[in-house]
Amino acid sequence: MKILKFPRLLSILLLSPLFLFGQSKSILPIKYPNKPKLVLGIVIDQMRFDYLNRYYSKFGNGGFKRILKEGFNEKNMLYPYVPTATGPGHSSIFSGSVPAISGIIENEWYSRKDKKIIYCVSDTTVQSIGTGNKSGQMSPRNLLVSTITDQLKLSNNFKSKVIGISQKDRASILPAGHLANGAYWLDSETGNFISSNYYMKELPSWVQSFNQKKLAESYLSKDWNTLLPIDTYLESDPDNEPWESLLPGESNPVFPHILSKIPRKDFELIRSTPFGNDLTKDFALSALENEKLGKSEYTDFLTLSFSSTDYVGHAYGPNSIEIEDTYLRLDKDLEEILNYLDRNLGKENVLVFLTADHGVAAAPGFNLAHNIPAGLISGSNFVKGIQDYFQKNFGNAGLLEKFSNEQVYLNYSLVESLKLNEETLFNGLRTYLMEKEGVANLVDLNHIGNSNMIGDQLERIKNGFYAKRSGDFQLILEPNWMFGRSQGTNHGTSYHYDIHVPMLWYGWKIKAGSSIEKVKITDISSTLAFILGIEEPNGSIGKPESLILNP
Ligand code: ZN
Ligand code: ZN
Repeated sequence: MKILKFPRLLSILLLSPLFLFGQSKSILPIKYPNKPKLVLGIVIDQMRFDYLNRYYSKFGNGGFKRILKEGFNEKNMLYPYVPTATGPGHSSIFSGSVPAISGIIENEWYSRKDKKIIYCVSDTTVQSIGTGNKSGQMSPRNLLVSTITDQLKLSNNFKSKVIGISQKDRASILPAGHLANGAYWLDSETGNFISSNYYMKELPSWVQSFNQKKLAESYLSKDWNTLLPIDTYLESDPDNEPWESLLPGESNPVFPHILSKIPRKDFELIRSTPFGNDLTKDFALSALENEKLGKSEYTDFLTLSFSSTDYVGHAYGPNSIEIEDTYLRLDKDLEEILNYLDRNLGKENVLVFLTADHGVAAAPGFNLAHNIPAGLISGSNFVKGIQDYFQKNFGNAGLLEKFSNEQVYLNYSLVESLKLNEETLFNGLRTYLMEKEGVANLVDLNHIGNSNMIGDQLERIKNGFYAKRSGDFQLILEPNWMFGRSQGTNHGTSYHYDIHVPMLWYGWKIKAGSSIEKVKITDISSTLAFILGIEEPNGSIGKPESLILNP
């Protein structure tokens, strides 16, 4: 038996690509016939899972509905950390990591060393490309881990193309990783897509041509009316509610929003309308075409984040006609992109996934109007309260060095010179804060193990804590409580409305189906690494999901 088997084993060895590759590099080029030609990673900024169901009957057949029918719907995708914000969200989706490892603990954080707030993608060592202002001084350098997009490039000696696109710089840069061919974001001053010299010396000619079309200007010359007759928006609240924000010059937050009459000095306004997403879609189609993504023998990766959902969501809340209309229009953008991929690459050659960087809470005004416990806290009064407490009980208000991201940063040199210790300050401050309305807990981040938080909540706090950038004590508010003003809403907590997001897979070998199994946002990059046959990002803590694939 052994003698018979040996020649077969030998022939397998001789024919294996590894053997041939070792013998002669030029005979057998590396090919990836079993892999998608393009991965398109779509992030919808501030999309809660329930929107898929809430707006389902209003969606057309070619966008969300097509992905839901032909793709795989993981219905129970959760964020395993707090705070749930855009910077951490995008870095976790594409790195399979959490803020405790990636270092992206929030959109911005307080630096004890520099005594100032640091923005998650700011980089003063680089220069803007495509604009005269500083909005291009950005790079992924604060992201401490690699991304799945980095790993793809590392897997084939940088042959894959990786491009990141979003209106928001952080939502373009963090997904595209450290090795991207380009990351592009919107410059509010010019309405142009720009970049930084971290990636390139000048904008490619196709980007320059795109910018010359001045599409932001033409979008803002239109009015924002509802896509469908307004009386059919039965999934949402009435149009005029006191907790909705007003655009400049408006006296009521109602349709039509006459954009051409709104006083403005730049193009910032487009972000807070669905047309910001349309513009992003236009730019993505131009990138696909001109960068010839998916046309080489190596898998390319386009990361595409739609931001207007977040700006509109913050302004009007998740129960508004404005946010519903923004999703119905986004559905059309998705349809256009899927149709383009059909025509130019074929669905079987493209792997698409769609998720979100966080959810959102209902507006506090909406909750209160419906007798759901909720509330607002004034940030400046809250900080003054902590300072007064330290002054009165420990003789120095400066013990609070900074209150940032709902965390207390102690002034260590004052703690030492006043011969105090952290435990005394924590216990005293906690007792003081627990008497305040809306406060659920104060957690000592340097001794998280001693906390009385329950399992899942405790894990989320641990996963969000990175010692060199985080504060000392974490404030936890009760559900639906937030800092802010009486209009609009926010996200950032570990409550379900903020952590439960869509997770859709579509195209290539993805099977049609769904699952209610709990999965974590860190599993996305693991799954992609498994599909692409490449190394997982270096900070990955996810697990691959083979469930989504046809055999
Ligand atoms: Zn976001
Ligand atoms: Zn947001």
